[in-house]
Amino acid sequence: MTRKLADEEHVLITTHVAETTFELETAAACYGMNDTQFLSDIGFLGPDVIAVHCVHCKTEDIEIMRQHGTKVSHNPCSNMYLASGCAPIPEMLRAGVTVGLASDGPASSNNHSLFQAMKFAALQQKGAHQDATIITAEKVLEMATIDGARAVGLEAEIGSIEVGKKADIVVLDYNNAFMTPIHHPVSAIVYSALGHEVTSVMIDGRFVMRDGIVGAVDEAAVRRQAQTSADALTQRAGTDSFNRRPWPKTVGWEREKKPQVSPLRYPGFPGGLGRVGELSCGFLYGKPHTRFTVGAAQ
Ligand SMILES: [Zn+2]
Repeated sequence: MTRKLADEEHVLITTHVAETTFELETAAACYGMNDTQFLSDIGFLGPDVIAVHCVHCKTEDIEIMRQHGTKVSHNPCSNMYLASGCAPIPEMLRAGVTVGLASDGPASSNNHSLFQAMKFAALQQKGAHQDATIITAEKVLEMATIDGARAVGLEAEIGSIEVGKKADIVVLDYNNAFMTPIHHPVSAIVYSALGHEVTSVMIDGRFVMRDGIVGAVDEAAVRRQAQTSADALTQRAGTDSFNRRPWPKTVGWEREKKPQVSPLRYPGFPGGLGRVGELSCGFLYGKPHTRFTVGAAQ
């Protein structure tokens, strides 16, 4: 259905792929193969698909992505915050797969900063490979700009400052203690900048922020509304008590209190697709945290 609609409407598809081992286990139980192979098998993948996360893609999955021209959205802060793992980004880049950088939204890393995403993208790979040269600051900056544009098929219009392209420009003020001293401007952007260095932002030739002032909206009012909405959301979800959690007595969550997937997650598995089942998402402070249905079809 999604593939058919995308073909008819000529729009891109974004879908999570291989974010967690749970996804792989579920795909294996349902289809006898991992999700990348399954999506390839049913003709879902293509150059108009952005596969989000791909943390657990293996060499053969990366080859599938390359063959289909499928793009990857890399969200390092989310992958670390949610303990999903470390995506094989260097291997993807070596294979010629386009990888754009993203935040995954503030719900999964408490931030929307592409500056944080850039720094963590580099640091995660360096740490995981114990190789400080595994990825360059220049490549990371490209992933946040032109490769992101390639991922959404807009590289002819945006993603780099060039004659003939739309004037999308971010201006940074390097005159602060965090950016001093500077040895290389790109390394300074990736490793030193915190985000507050941004003084002006131009989109398609129009300033949306100039000299620190956001022109299009009342920034203070938007922030107030965001807090009000977030408070209401946690109340509706019944998670507002977590906002007043006690100071933990342990350095990490005790084993039995660690968020974990219930063994009930696979009712009916294996044994066909009849019921995908209910996922008991986890236990926080010894209480059921979230319970939702992954999918149910008979
Ligand atoms: Zn996501």
